[in-house]
Amino acid sequence: MGESSSATEIFRLLSDETRVDILCAIAVAQSELEQAGSGPAELAFSDIYDHVDVENTSKLSYHLGELTGTYLRKSDEGYSLSHAGERIVRFILSGNYEQPESFGPEPVDGMCVFCGEEALETRLSHQFFRIDCAACDQQVAGQPITPAQVRDRTAEALIRSVKLQGAEDYRQVRRGLCPECGAQLSAEVLGLPESPLPDADSFLVTSQCDACLRTYNSPLTYSVAYHPASIAFYWDHGIDVTTKGIWEFHEYVYDGRWASEQVASDPDEYEALMQHGEDTLRLRLDSSATVTATERVRRESREF
Ligand SMILES: [Zn+2]
Ligand SMILES: [Zn+2]
Repeated sequence: MGESSSATEIFRLLSDETRVDILCAIAVAQSELEQAGSGPAELAFSDIYDHVDVENTSKLSYHLGELTGTYLRKSDEGYSLSHAGERIVRFILSGNYEQPESFGPEPVDGMCVFCGEEALETRLSHQFFRIDCAACDQQVAGQPITPAQVRDRTAEALIRSVKLQGAEDYRQVRRGLCPECGAQLSAEVLGLPESPLPDADSFLVTSQCDACLRTYNSPLTYSVAYHPASIAFYWDHGIDVTTKGIWEFHEYVYDGRWASEQVASDPDEYEALMQHGEDTLRLRLDSSATVTATERVRRESREF
């Protein structure tokens, strides 16, 4: 192949059971052959032939030829999965095309950002992990989830995995890396005068991926929650924010411990403030939501 193929041509290559079997067999054979510390094994034609139920070597040779370029790479040592091959095979093997098992409603710790009640419930809705407030009926958090993530996990383990994934995604987004496809994100800060969030944080950071079109939105303070300065600030106060879910920050915004404001125009600059006891961490952000300076202030009495 070599020249770029259309999406339909690429998927047509997979509308053949033997080819899907070949791709999965390569992943199975690789996991059997891989030595700890070495990269993915490249498989010789005979290794693949041993693992696939195909009539004869010329049939296998034909299918390998069709898959090479898009789903497989071929070198002198043998065959290995390409990026597209990896994505498709891991997707198939993990069963992520299946419907996830139902889950919830389960009570979950945390405060509602809208009404301040501690009455949060989590459940799966249309393959989305969502948290709603049972007191005011508003959704307070939502995150895509995979069927493999739900499978074989207790409620507690699932919630822990969602926290971890949310934190990892936020860190990548803050660094401009699209968690979905790896392309560069462009971010901007938007003022939200009609924000449903408390007045303390009425700015939204929106990060757009021009490659896969995913958009990631977060209140300005949340966008810096996993910045090294924030992690260190809370760590010094005995709190590990890297294990916290996004919804566990709601109480900080609800009671004004977290706040944001615009501090300069043309070019626009913003400040996120995080208060803990008598200490405050200030993070200065530019118009692309990049942190340009941080400062800790002690015993400052602030009016939020
Ligand atoms: Zn509520
Ligand atoms: Zn993307």
